[in-house]
Amino acid sequence: MIEVEKEDLEQSTIEVENCCFCRKPTAFWYKPKDVACCLECAANAEPGDVPDKQTWCRRERIAQNSDSIEQALKRASSLQWPGWASKYEEQYETAS
Ligand SMILES: [Zn+2]
Repeated sequence: MIEVEKEDLEQSTIEVENCCFCRKPTAFWYKPKDVACCLECAANAEPGDVPDKQTWCRRERIAQNSDSIEQALKRASSLQWPGWASKYEEQYETAS
């Protein structure tokens, strides 16, 4: 369980971002690492599971460039949570 804070979207220029674990759009953020994390994933995650901002941004870019969101999510769900993103990344890097 990690503590996430809701971004006040009306007060902020930040747009809704994809959760760093499941990629669902969320207004919740894990402030110590400045990454988006939805409530469901926050309930199951440990601080050590949370990627740093650089890693998260890179994964988002890989996911957005390589597949449609549906394909990315389908592939993600076939891999084990919460390590899916790094496995996905490895597969992509091996394939390219
Ligand atoms: Zn999530």
